[in-house]
Amino acid sequence: MCGIVGIVDAGGVSFSLFHALYALQHRGQEAAGITTSDGKTFFKHKGQGLVSEVFDEEILSSLRGNAGVGHVRYPTSGANLPENVQPFNFRFRDHLFAIAHNGNLVNARELREEYEANGEIFSTTSDTEVIASTFVQEFKRSRNVVESIAHCMRTLEGSYSVVLMLDGVLYAFRDPMGIKPLCLGKTEGGYIVASESVAVDALNGELIGDLKPGELLRLDQNGVKAQQIAISRRKAHCIFEFIYFARADSILEGRLVYDVRRRIGEHLYAEAKVDADFVSPVPDSGTSIAIGYSNSSGIPYLESLMKNRYMGRTFIKVSQKERERAVRIKLNPIRQHLKDRSVVLVDDSIVRGTTSSWIVNLMKEAGAREVHVRIGSPPIIAPCYLGVDMPTREELIASSMGVERVRNRIAATTLHHVSLNALVQAIGIGIDDLCVGCLTGRYPVRIQGEECVQRHVDIVAGTYQTRLTAPGAGGS
Ligand code: AMP
Repeated sequence: MCGIVGIVDAGGVSFSLFHALYALQHRGQEAAGITTSDGKTFFKHKGQGLVSEVFDEEILSSLRGNAGVGHVRYPTSGANLPENVQPFNFRFRDHLFAIAHNGNLVNARELREEYEANGEIFSTTSDTEVIASTFVQEFKRSRNVVESIAHCMRTLEGSYSVVLMLDGVLYAFRDPMGIKPLCLGKTEGGYIVASESVAVDALNGELIGDLKPGELLRLDQNGVKAQQIAISRRKAHCIFEFIYFARADSILEGRLVYDVRRRIGEHLYAEAKVDADFVSPVPDSGTSIAIGYSNSSGIPYLESLMKNRYMGRTFIKVSQKERERAVRIKLNPIRQHLKDRSVVLVDDSIVRGTTSSWIVNLMKEAGAREVHVRIGSPPIIAPCYLGVDMPTREELIASSMGVERVRNRIAATTLHHVSLNALVQAIGIGIDDLCVGCLTGRYPVRIQGEECVQRHVDIVAGTYQTRLTAPGAGGS
């Protein structure tokens, strides 16, 4: 779970990359980085922390050039090492390349062992370095980017949306099943590729659309060329992007995420009606789902929990008392709304169950008479191996407990999860083209010890087609 961006613009890219990363901050708060190029030299800066903490005006002014890539990193367990902060920058003979990746390879360990057996060395524990290595394996032979990406798509298994800069030319590609998002937009002076369309909005750009699964784009001062590298008849778009991960104002696969979530709320009401005084979201993840529930039920929407947006990550939490105080500061119940009332409490998902149980308790302490919990995803019963930081089966409350036991554990008056059928309807993409591994335990790629509904991928690499010419270059 990370956010990536790549920009080409004759007027410079560093400030645009910064603003785009700012818009993608929700995809990763652990670290951020930018590499730019003027065609001959790389300019780079990265560090741990939020985008606003890692960069300032002086640093951005020093990142020169007309092309660049950026990354925000999600805190995943075990590997929060400074050397794992992206983009990664490499020198290979007379070439410079930088790479940033969103996703997770399921065969990274096998590939790394194979490459190490051949004498290669790695300086990080990240699978992004395995992608770089796979690329160079072919590139050192053919010096051909299309062939090298085709080799990647033949070799890599898992999810990978990638931006790659080679000698000042920007490339972007998406795995053949399109597991993680990646979109293309046009800005005043050039083009942007980014994990989500909100990054295009941040630059006041125009969204052109998603990269096709298995597609490679080449972006430079002359415009955008596209090349289909691989085709999978069935796709596997991550369902969790629609439920929780993407921002509600992003457009994924042509769908406004806000609308998808509102429809989930409507289905939740149709499936589990309840008579209550008002509908309230868990901020902010439950908001658009709660609005859908309220609209279709006619039950008023009223907030009863206020989130403090200014909780720094540095808040000192040494003792248990301080930790309790920290969560109270983060979320405050509005007692006047809750006292002696019955509430429909809406959230996107239950993962470990700790959040829901704490919030239901908080609402009851504030005087709520009934708390009817409605969840915008089916129970999460299996881990994610493809890029969402979802814990092991032992930690997932729904992997060992049925809905009634979970209801009892979180002390809700009633509990209902939207059905998988209704969720798929709300998204409007057939289930065969979605990755629903965390909801069913069946994955679109081979994973040891897990059930697999694998997709067949054909490599079709040919020649580039011009997709768009550069702004001001006589085309649109
Ligand atoms: P819990 O059940 O205590 O693990 O928390 C579930 C809540 O965390 C949900 O309401 C989501 O809003 C949020 N959430 C779901 N998945 C993730 C994730 N992979 N990383 C961080 N937060 C998440």
